[in-house]
Amino acid sequence: MFGLKADWSLDVFERYFTLGDYSGGEARWCPGCGDFAVLNTVHRVLRDAQLPPEKSVAVSGIGCSSRLPHYMGTYGFHGLHGRALPFANGIKSRRPDLDVWVATGDGDCFSIGAGPWIHSLRLNMDMVVLIFDNAIYGLTKKQTSPTSPRGMKTNTHPAGAPVRELNPLTVTLGITGVSFVAQVVDWNPPMLYETIKRAHQHRGTSFVRILQRCPVFSNDFCKPLQDDPGKFVVLEHENGLALDDSIKRVFKNSVNHDPADWLHAMKLAYDTSQLPLGILYQDVDAPVYEDASAVGLHTSDEQKMAALNSALDSFAI
Ligand code: SF4
Repeated sequence: MFGLKADWSLDVFERYFTLGDYSGGEARWCPGCGDFAVLNTVHRVLRDAQLPPEKSVAVSGIGCSSRLPHYMGTYGFHGLHGRALPFANGIKSRRPDLDVWVATGDGDCFSIGAGPWIHSLRLNMDMVVLIFDNAIYGLTKKQTSPTSPRGMKTNTHPAGAPVRELNPLTVTLGITGVSFVAQVVDWNPPMLYETIKRAHQHRGTSFVRILQRCPVFSNDFCKPLQDDPGKFVVLEHENGLALDDSIKRVFKNSVNHDPADWLHAMKLAYDTSQLPLGILYQDVDAPVYEDASAVGLHTSDEQKMAALNSALDSFAI
């Protein structure tokens, strides 16, 4: 209007991102699947952080949850079975400026991906690793996974899983260099949001085990947990999750736990009679691998050639 100054600048920093900016294709999981809750929470965390979608990348392996990159408006990489973490490490190594998210399941990460799980966590590169743990291979229709409870009937063990389930929390806590370990359920939105937000804010690899509903193939695993909040104990501490009243109303059991106390975290993780919810462990000072791998990243081609020639000259006789 006459008399008013118009701002015609196209300043990209003025962009405001909505949830839609982080959304990709229409999610195709079964009705009632917990993966929807996780996906929506990741969108919300990114929207609230206002990170440009082109600065994030979602990486996955194989499984139901590994479809997540397709449903993100960010960059994405749907990789190989059990190999989400090495791909994510590679991306972070060459592009430390990117915000990296990994989606992997109990079968993908704890079985075929067990080697990369250990070594990637040890590298502690800055990324969020979301473990969608439904205690079953869902995509391949109800096979026993490493976290299937002993006795759970599956298509590979119709008489019940014969051995005791793996404890991903104690294993992860036992990895040297690990810097963030949390556990949460997919069916409590405030806690899920708070956990993933804190994981995202942490610098280092944030390992978040999400107990995830698979109503189609592992209702025996998740329904009893959903129906009885008394099976959980919420971790309370000033350095832990911010717990609002809605969370405390649902989960009545709580214990004081300092996320810096590794030994107490291990005790809580080991005792499966009550499953801990919250941040089990956080070490903000653990070294991150990209601080070393990014050295020399912006070296010019001329500088690389000069360094190469200099190195070869050392062999001259
Ligand atoms: Fe979700 Fe289970 Fe369906 Fe897979 S099979 S999409 S985990 S409900």
